[in-house]
Amino acid sequence: MITLKEALTKSNEEIAIFKDELEKKAKDSALNAYVGFESSGEGVPILIKDNIQVKAWSVTSGSKILQGYIAPYEATVITKLKSKGMMAFGRANMDEFAMGSTTESSYYGATLNPHGTNRVPGGSSGGSAAAVAGGIAIAALGSDTGGSIRQPAAYCGVVGMKPTYGRVSRFGLGAYASSLDQIGPIGQNVEDTAILYDAITGHDEKDSTSADFESEDIANHLNTDVKLTIAVVDSYVESADEDIQKAFAYTVAKLSEAGHTIVHKELSNTKYDIASYYVLATAEAATNLARYDGVRYGNRAKSSNTEELYYHTRSEGFGEEVKRRIMLGNFVLSSGYYDAYYVKAQKVRHLIRDEFNAIFEEADLILSPVTPSVAPKIGASKSALEMYKSDMYTIGVNLAGLPAISIPVAKNEEGMPVGLQLIAKAFDEKTLFDGASSVEKVVGYTK
Ligand code: GLN
Repeated sequence: MITLKEALTKSNEEIAIFKDELEKKAKDSALNAYVGFESSGEGVPILIKDNIQVKAWSVTSGSKILQGYIAPYEATVITKLKSKGMMAFGRANMDEFAMGSTTESSYYGATLNPHGTNRVPGGSSGGSAAAVAGGIAIAALGSDTGGSIRQPAAYCGVVGMKPTYGRVSRFGLGAYASSLDQIGPIGQNVEDTAILYDAITGHDEKDSTSADFESEDIANHLNTDVKLTIAVVDSYVESADEDIQKAFAYTVAKLSEAGHTIVHKELSNTKYDIASYYVLATAEAATNLARYDGVRYGNRAKSSNTEELYYHTRSEGFGEEVKRRIMLGNFVLSSGYYDAYYVKAQKVRHLIRDEFNAIFEEADLILSPVTPSVAPKIGASKSALEMYKSDMYTIGVNLAGLPAISIPVAKNEEGMPVGLQLIAKAFDEKTLFDGASSVEKVVGYTK
């Protein structure tokens, strides 16, 4: 597949022909990575996760409840892409409302991993990652609330990046957990990912959480030969399985050979990541998803009064995982429990952030696994708790609001990719991408 960098040098006519071929290939593909083939305007086609609004397109967040809903306005990231020679093409499959780690909870059915079609691509941006890995998208946008860009990128052997909270406008992103959600790029390599990242960054007055920074210009100044201090947390890595530990040790050795300084650090609060995340994320999700009541959006169930309308619309429209989280979220917010759960989880969140920041006083980046294993088989993630645990390496980054990037570094004996993650301090994406380009260079991963 042509890279994003190459595609941006082509004429509009060449790109139009390429786009038609791509559309045909995407429609013929068995991966189930696309759930729609809409396109908008002229430019290099970028696949869009189905929770980002493109004006006049369907947008469903992978849910039955939003079938038939047409976006009345455009997400800021889409407007920005268009001003940089790109266009939105296709809607990517995802876990329903971005709740999940496998893309199996989509109303459209599971997406398959191109490296092994009996495996999940990860989630929730599984369609975005599988399409880039499977040669049916040049690059894609995803969203990351607790790992949903980095984890599928790792499972599919592509690069996926979560920007600092506030770096990219969330205007037009279907809200899951608003204090954690970020839109980010997925690309075939670090440079392409940086190009797409640069394109979508910058302050947006339509998003009150958007930070007051100009757009980034990182891709044109990538420094592959940078020498950095990189922290590793040994106890953290030990929880991953052998495939991951091997790839980790190999990468650390290569980085050290290349002249980076490796320092060993501790992160003792990470054991609270999952518990605090699932209190905060579900509380915010319960609030955000209250708007899907059959009155204003999408599907409306048959009913004879208002109460029945809410009841039937929501019972029929939401899948099992989404219902579980709405119930959990309403429980932790309910009177008498608010302080014990929500307020406590917010306090823990600050401790988690402080611990990361203490490491950044001495190190430029942290290197960690993205996942405890390679992509599981389809249907293997039966229990919700097991699935939640697989987010142990990605969630802390969202709680702390930090930027992080997943880079493929190796394959296991079965040919399944292993990705590792670099984490930087808030708003230091420049160092993050430099470090990532260095990792890419030293490990010599082949697709
Ligand atoms: N797997 C996590 C969850 O289910 C993260 C999802 C995400 O980042 N959107 O909430």
